[in-house]
Amino acid sequence: MPIESFNPYTGRVLRRFTAFSWAKTERILAQAHRAAATWPATTFAHRAGVLRRAAALLRERQDELARLMALEMGKPITDGRAEAVKCAACCDYYAEHAEAFLADEVIKTDAARSFISYQPLGVVLAVMPWNFPFWQAVRFAAPALMAGNVGLLKHASNVPQCALALEKIFHDAGLPPACFRTLLIGSDLVGKLIADDRLKAVTLTGSEGAGAAVAAAAGQHIKKTVLELGGSDPFIVLADADVALAAKTAAKSRMINSGQSCIAAKRFIVEKPVLKEFISHLKTHLLALRTGDPLDEATQYGPLARPDLADDLTQQVEDSVKQGAKVELYGGQAKPGAALFRPMILSNIKAGQRAYSEELFGPVALVLEAKDADDAVRLANDSRFGLGAAVWTQDPKKGEQMARQIESGAVFVNGLVKSMNELPFGGVKKSGYGRELSYLGIREFVNQKSIWIG
Ligand code: NDP
Repeated sequence: MPIESFNPYTGRVLRRFTAFSWAKTERILAQAHRAAATWPATTFAHRAGVLRRAAALLRERQDELARLMALEMGKPITDGRAEAVKCAACCDYYAEHAEAFLADEVIKTDAARSFISYQPLGVVLAVMPWNFPFWQAVRFAAPALMAGNVGLLKHASNVPQCALALEKIFHDAGLPPACFRTLLIGSDLVGKLIADDRLKAVTLTGSEGAGAAVAAAAGQHIKKTVLELGGSDPFIVLADADVALAAKTAAKSRMINSGQSCIAAKRFIVEKPVLKEFISHLKTHLLALRTGDPLDEATQYGPLARPDLADDLTQQVEDSVKQGAKVELYGGQAKPGAALFRPMILSNIKAGQRAYSEELFGPVALVLEAKDADDAVRLANDSRFGLGAAVWTQDPKKGEQMARQIESGAVFVNGLVKSMNELPFGGVKKSGYGRELSYLGIREFVNQKSIWIG
């Protein structure tokens, strides 16, 4: 893929970038490696100061950052500002808590004193996607930098300006430049970087294919990985639920980032008695949403990030309809090659259809009918993915019981699935492994060293 800013709303190329050569990439890696020897010697208070200044800059520059996201990947401007503010909160969170999260942990053994000490690994590569160009990168960088690691960012090839803007924020905040660098490289150089001894670990957010390729390379060189891949999150609505509120939340969840979110609800598994009512409410909410220029304050959903993503989604929908899915709400692309994709609802989703087994990364709500709560859990778990899930019921005990049965990294009962600084975020099955955020996230890229003193 060329490294270029392409505006999916206007269809125009905004800027092209020359990809870094291996020689340039290797020079940056060498600088990062040197920085990894000195950065951990700084105090937590010093690192927290840098992160707090980065947070302030993220808030100060939210208009500029939101504009970049709108232009490069079609995110509505109001959502872009919210993303910048969320990133700021993540920097503040780790500035405040990192020291406690990584404090020595005394463990009683036969030693006079024994404890776990958490020490940084060194240079960590982050391979990141375009859907939340700042958030995905910051939720890696904030804990990594606080732990004393050094970050290299290989961002998706369609968001180079966002990647450079984030690098500038950290540098302007006083971070030594070599501690966080954006590499304008294609995925072809990722394997070479992973093979280099100076690079210690890698984290990837993106598709299953990209995750498998990066994990295979890391495995060959015995390097730690964290993978946050796709999801086809179930959203279960039991007959006793507040159906109107569930449907309103369902629409909001499905339309996060114009439908392009790993934790958007994708499969709506509804008990038969409330199926019609749920679809009717969902339709009303989806039809009420406004699309338009992502730079317009009134726009609620924009085009997909790239026309090819819309073409692929159309193919998934068409194949599923041929395989028996029923269109409840017509939308989709106006014509092939258009990035705008209007919301759709498909019902009668059954095993054997593409929509049943694949992730649909765009505004298509899939409705499955469940006979009862057990059947709903069975359908929820009949998926290769396991990222997030939601259960809607007026019976919290039942909700909790189902939450324990669902195979996923998170379950929200009567609420919108979201990422939060306090709770670990990640998946099971093909949604990946490892955790981001919370105290668990900052402990992924550290040596959890046992020290035994006799
Ligand atoms: P990709 O997974 O291809 O891209 C994500 C990142 O991985 C990008 O930086 C990309 O670089 C890089 N990458 C891709 N292939 C490799 C590889 N073989 N080795 C190393 N790095 C690689 O996502 P797409 O943009 O193609 O989106 C396709 C699908 O991915 C979506 O439809 C969705 O299912 C899933 N996705 C999931 C996301 C999530 O949040 N979990 C986010 C985005 C996408 P480059 O851009 O240079 O190719």
